[in-house]
Amino acid sequence: MSKVTQASNYVWTTTDGSANRSPEARKDQTAMSDVALYASRDVDGLRDSTVMMVDEEPINLEVTQIYLEEAGYTRLISTSDTTDAMRLLNSERPDVLLLDVKMPGISGLGILREMRSTGILKDVPTIILTASSDPETKLQALELGATDFLSKPVDPSELVLRIRNTLAAKAYRDRLANYDRLTGLPNRRNFIEQLGWAIDHSQRYMKKPGAVLLVDLDGFKQINDALGPATGDALLRSVADRIGECLFSVDTLGRVERDDAEPSLSRMAGDEYAVLLPVLTRPDSAAQVAQRILESIAEPFSLMGHELQISCGIGIAVFPGDGTDTDSIVRNASVAMHHAKQEKKNSYQFYSHELNARAVHYLKTGNQLRKAIERDELRLFYQPKINIQTGMVCGCEALVRWEHPQRGLVEPDEFIEMAEEMGLIQSFGEWVMRTACKQSNAWRSAGLGALQISINISSHQILEAHLAATLRKIFAETGAVPSSLILEITEGVLLKNAEINIRVLENIKAMGIKLSIDDFGTGYSSLSYLNSFPLDELKIDRTFVAQIKKAGDHSAIIAAIIAMAHSMGLTVVAEGVENAHQLAFLKSLHCHEYQGFIVSRPVPPEEFAARFLPSKVAAQHPKT
Ligand code: C2E
Ligand code: CA
Ligand code: CA
Repeated sequence: MSKVTQASNYVWTTTDGSANRSPEARKDQTAMSDVALYASRDVDGLRDSTVMMVDEEPINLEVTQIYLEEAGYTRLISTSDTTDAMRLLNSERPDVLLLDVKMPGISGLGILREMRSTGILKDVPTIILTASSDPETKLQALELGATDFLSKPVDPSELVLRIRNTLAAKAYRDRLANYDRLTGLPNRRNFIEQLGWAIDHSQRYMKKPGAVLLVDLDGFKQINDALGPATGDALLRSVADRIGECLFSVDTLGRVERDDAEPSLSRMAGDEYAVLLPVLTRPDSAAQVAQRILESIAEPFSLMGHELQISCGIGIAVFPGDGTDTDSIVRNASVAMHHAKQEKKNSYQFYSHELNARAVHYLKTGNQLRKAIERDELRLFYQPKINIQTGMVCGCEALVRWEHPQRGLVEPDEFIEMAEEMGLIQSFGEWVMRTACKQSNAWRSAGLGALQISINISSHQILEAHLAATLRKIFAETGAVPSSLILEITEGVLLKNAEINIRVLENIKAMGIKLSIDDFGTGYSSLSYLNSFPLDELKIDRTFVAQIKKAGDHSAIIAAIIAMAHSMGLTVVAEGVENAHQLAFLKSLHCHEYQGFIVSRPVPPEEFAARFLPSKVAAQHPKT
């Protein structure tokens, strides 16, 4: 019988990961310097350890398990099948093993001997359970590397204390083996292990690239020689903190929201650090992190009475592109780092030439985008929304474009994400809201009617505390009325930080602004969930509409979404309507409104006014 309570997925037995959390947490941990302190302060952490038990008697296993559960341990694995013990040990890699020595088949000592001769199980702390005080067996066990003994029948208090002490000693040993004492960062060995895991994980599950950045300081040796090792050490610690901040302040790398996908920082050796970015939306987003690190390190350091100015070189290798094993990734990042140092002071280089070129393009475009507002290069286009029953224009969606001085009109898909990553989306969003409000006023005062304008809100704007305040300011400034706006929020964004969003949205809704859920159907939200948001409108994502290709095509998803929207009292809008079949189908399901190329692409405001205003004119859509 073998049993795994609370199936632990993959448990990192050698790293606790917390050193990667924040500079404060790191400092806290460096301060812990002996086993006793570990045991007394970190008992809670120890209880997350995996404890495995091997005993021929299932009843012994159950009793021991109860004692350990009472003491708060949750990851317990047990087996009374000695022939299965090695397999389980290999797959679960426990933090501590309780091993009965007197067992049929393979003896406990046989298992211990086999463990000590295999790589990954060599160091698993093992507490030997003996029924009697048998000095011969004890000596043999010690010879084989037993960590401790427990006599049967097991006394619960003694069991818990021996397990705790053994785990504390192991945690302390792991810490020494895996963390750098000076900075408290994971060391090279730990980094390689994390990298191996990240490479494997990215290929198997994420299907997204990751990257390694090797950061090497310039002229560290001279500083160390001239100012002494104490200042050198202080500098190394401060550099670690600064790089760490560059990673923790990052929230726009498209990181998947999972703990194990967080960026981490390690100290490789001397003045060399490694950043692991386990998941990237695009390989070249690593360039932004590199840029941020360069800028942060270039700021002067004020240490022990010295003002120090340093620079560094960064090499970037992306996996799987630049290699699929830890060796080649680290080697290639190192090649790139040396290249960066030769090329230009305080610069980064990708290992791949293609990525270097893309990063240059990205950076150049980014710099131009930064100036787009002040240079008045943003344009707002409008696409009509049509009432499906009457064929009348009932509103419009504002869609932003960038009039690039050389490239002409650039579509939002090419720059919105970049604006988000560069922290420009707040000002872009504000520009869009203000321009839409002014436009609405202009049309109204020209006697062209009061048309509702829908605007797209980015996730970053929602998380911003000032969204409601910004809107109020714009209404006051432009004289536009809140009821003239509909804010569109994509389904994915709505769900991501649901609790914050509900609060922000209720605030906005209370001002009299309408709210719409955009790209609906792509985010797997449930009906009951949607009910908790104060919504007025739902927009069916255009990929569903695109599936209706010819007459008679029926989309069960669209039918279900429309029925659901009706039952929730939401106005339902179909996006991306391109042909008469789609329109006829939507009409038959009593979809309320639609948008699409069948009536018009998004157009500049003058053209919109000429074709679609006053808004009561019928759009020239085909008869259905
Ligand atoms: P979206 O909100 O889903 O906007 C609708 C997109 O569908 C627009 O693309 C529009 O031109 C396109 N479209 C409309 N009718 C049809 C059709 O019949 N067929 C097809 N194939 N496409 C149609 P656009 O303007 O390129 O905008 C793309 C995305 O960029 C928008 O998707 C929105 O997510 C984002 N975006 C646009 N303007 C803004 C903005 O001001 N702020 C923010 N945060 N995002 C914006
Ligand atoms: Ca939209
Ligand atoms: Ca949409």
